[in-house]
Amino acid sequence: MIRELAEPMVQIDLLGGIGEIGGNKFLVEDSDSRILLDFGMSLGARGQFFSEPFLSPRDRQGLVTLGILPDIHGLYRDEENPPINAVVLSHAHIDHSMCISLLNRKIPVYCGETTLSILKTLSEMRPRGFENDLEGIEFKTFRTGDNVSFGKIQLEPIHVDHSIPGSYAFLVHTSKGTIAYSGDFRAHGPKSNMTKDFSDAAERSEPELFLCEGTNLVRGDLRTEQEVLEKSEHVVKKTKGAVLASFSSADIDRLRTFHEIAEKNDRLLVVSMKQAYLLRSLANDKHLDVPNVIGDPHIAVYQRSKKTYYNWEKDILSSVTVKTSKDIREMQPKIILASSPYDMNEVLDIQPGPGGAYINSSSEPFNEEMEMDHERFTNWLNHFGLPMYQIHSSGHMMPTELRETIAQVKPKRLIPIHTEQPELYRLFVKDLTMVELGSKGSTVEV
Ligand SMILES: [Zn+2]
Ligand SMILES: [Zn+2]
Repeated sequence: MIRELAEPMVQIDLLGGIGEIGGNKFLVEDSDSRILLDFGMSLGARGQFFSEPFLSPRDRQGLVTLGILPDIHGLYRDEENPPINAVVLSHAHIDHSMCISLLNRKIPVYCGETTLSILKTLSEMRPRGFENDLEGIEFKTFRTGDNVSFGKIQLEPIHVDHSIPGSYAFLVHTSKGTIAYSGDFRAHGPKSNMTKDFSDAAERSEPELFLCEGTNLVRGDLRTEQEVLEKSEHVVKKTKGAVLASFSSADIDRLRTFHEIAEKNDRLLVVSMKQAYLLRSLANDKHLDVPNVIGDPHIAVYQRSKKTYYNWEKDILSSVTVKTSKDIREMQPKIILASSPYDMNEVLDIQPGPGGAYINSSSEPFNEEMEMDHERFTNWLNHFGLPMYQIHSSGHMMPTELRETIAQVKPKRLIPIHTEQPELYRLFVKDLTMVELGSKGSTVEV
C-alpha cells in the first residue's frame, strides 16, 4: 500500500499537435508537478469552423465548446486554481504560442529571450483582441545550458535550427526518465550545428520517449538555404525588371539571403513595415546578426498607401529609408520587393513592367500569413505578367534527416507529432524505435 503511494506517476496528455501540423499542446505530469509544452493554436481545427475576417471566434468559451481549445478548468484567464506550474514555449510561431493570450495569469510562461522579443513585437503589430493580449503574463526566459525545476520535473532547453530564430527543443527529465521534445526543427539549415547539439544531448539522456515532429513526410525537398540563395540569385541576375519575393516575416534567415542577393547585385531590398519593425526590435540580439534596417544602404522600407498609420508604423517609417509605390515604379530594375500575396493592391500601383519575376519563397504549411487561394493569386500574376519561381528551403526535418536523428537518439518509444501522416511516419521508422500513434486528447504513460 505504502509502496504504491510512493510510486511516481508520469504521464503526458496529448492535447494538440497529434495527427495535425501545429496546435502543439503536451501536458507533462510527474507526481504533483505539471508543465505544458507549447500552447499553440490548431489552425486546422479552427479553420473547420471559422473563416476570418467574416467569421472569427468571439470568445474563449466558443473555442473550448468547439473543441479547438482543451477544456481544463483553471487553465484560462480569470479562472481560479491554476492546474499547471508553467507553460514552456519552444518558439514564437502561432501554432506553438498563440493561446498564451488566453492563459491564466497566475501561470508563468517560459521561453527563450529571442522568442519573447518576437512575441512582443508581433503582438504590438496585430490588432488587439482576446487572442492577442499579452498583458499581465509573467514571462521567464531560459537559454541553452539552463536547467529549470518544476518540482519533480527538470526542464533542459536546447537550441535548434528552424525557420524562425530563437527556437528550442526540450529534454524533460522526470522521475521515470527523460522525455525528448523536438519542437519544430531541421538539420539542413544554416544553423544545423544547433540541432546537432540537441540530438547529441538527447542521445546522452537515453530518452524513454521522443515526441518528434514529422511535418515534411509528404513534402520532402532537399534544398538548403545556400541553394535558395544560389537559385534566387540566378533569377535576380537574369531578370531585367522588378523582382518580387514572398517569404515569412519572421524568417530572418530568408531575409538575410535576399539581403545578400540585393547587395551582390546592386539592388535595394525593400521590406514591409512589419518586417522592418521586427528587424529593428531584434537588432540588439547579439546572437542573431540581423541586417541593419536603419543604416544599411541596400535596405529600404515600403510605405503602403493608406490614410492613417498605426503608431508602430509611424515609428518605423520615421527611422528608416522609405520608398513609396511611385518610387518603386521608377526604379524597377533596381529593387527586390518583399511582398506577400496580400500586397497585390500595392503592386497595382507599382505597375510592374515586362521582364519581372515573382519568387515564392514561403511554403510552410501554416505561416501566419495564411495561404491565399492559389487560383486567385494566379489571376494577379497573370494580370501583371509576372512569372513565378518556387524557391524555398523548409524549416522542418527532411525524412532522411528524421531517420538519422531518431537512429542517433535511440528513444525507447516515439510518438509522431506535428504531422498529418502518423501512420506513414510509423512505417518509415519502425525498425529504429517503437512508434505509438496516440490520438488527440488521449493520455500516455511514461
Ligand atoms: Zn509548428
Ligand atoms: Zn514552427
